[in-house]
Amino acid sequence: MANRWNRRAVGLLSGGLDSTLAAKLMLEQGIEVFAINFTSPFCTCTPKNTGCAAVVSAVRMLGDIPLKRVWLGDEYLQIVQNPQHGYGSGLNPCIDCRIMKIKKAGEYMHEIGASFLFTGEVLGQRPMSQQKRAMALIDRKSGLEGYILRPLSAACLKPTVPEMKGWVDRSKLVGITGRSRKIQITTAAEKGILNYPCPSGGCLLTDRHFTERIRDYLSFTKHPSIKDIPLLKVGRHIRLGSGDKIIVARNEYECNQLARMVKEEDHLLRPLDFSGPTVILKGYHLGVAVENMLKYTRSFVPKRARIVHLFRAEERTIRIDEIGRKHSKASPRTDK
Ligand code: SF4
Repeated sequence: MANRWNRRAVGLLSGGLDSTLAAKLMLEQGIEVFAINFTSPFCTCTPKNTGCAAVVSAVRMLGDIPLKRVWLGDEYLQIVQNPQHGYGSGLNPCIDCRIMKIKKAGEYMHEIGASFLFTGEVLGQRPMSQQKRAMALIDRKSGLEGYILRPLSAACLKPTVPEMKGWVDRSKLVGITGRSRKIQITTAAEKGILNYPCPSGGCLLTDRHFTERIRDYLSFTKHPSIKDIPLLKVGRHIRLGSGDKIIVARNEYECNQLARMVKEEDHLLRPLDFSGPTVILKGYHLGVAVENMLKYTRSFVPKRARIVHLFRAEERTIRIDEIGRKHSKASPRTDK
């Protein structure tokens, strides 16, 4: 049998239970594991775009294995817009997403002289990318067929090169299938893996409400950018019939976020003489933007109350009774 103790493998590590357990199984077989972690604004575990905290704790639990972090940019958004292999239940292009991640992990594998890749995927756990045919397609399209091991379901899958060559002992791998995580939880506990802050990972592209926002964003934006995605997570979004977009903060935290995220070409509106939400207007209908600010204001608003209006780096104070109805003709089309 070939010596396993000098084999390197790259493991896709999300910080969730499955990928952490898969890495643990590899380490127990004497494989030198290098983790790779992908993040994007669609991850639900990284609300502040500071990178994945779950993966840091997983790496620690695994004995401080090396970790490479990869931030997915506009290339990812292009896949979301136009996937070759279609969507899941939302706007999640799971097969294309996996192909892209596996390809990138494969580049890293070659770069560090690793022999194979592994993932925490479980056969039948997810309806789109974790079915036998989909896994085979992903392996083929990524150009790494035979070199992608799925330790948690290996016993139910065709042997891979690392198993056939004896780099990995197939008899010590498991054959978990389906959506339940009971076996993983028990096995992880036996191996001392107790804290996994992000049990199953999360992806906003499967969220029905967020999917509607993204669809709206993509259909109204000439040059979509991944940098615009964080704003879609903040506030109430109102699309006017004219195409203008109004975003109204729902709490103080979001007021601060909108103030931070506003672009130079957007209008930012903040109440001055009363307590109410901050608003971003992308477009021209200032009157409707102010109406929406007032609609979501709970406090008393004096008749001649002022608001602060920031536009193109210029700040001015305007009185709400002076804005008038002339800007208010565009009726809302969506309000989420
Ligand atoms: S759920 Fe999201 S992150 Fe996971 S494979 Fe699908 S698109 Fe990619």
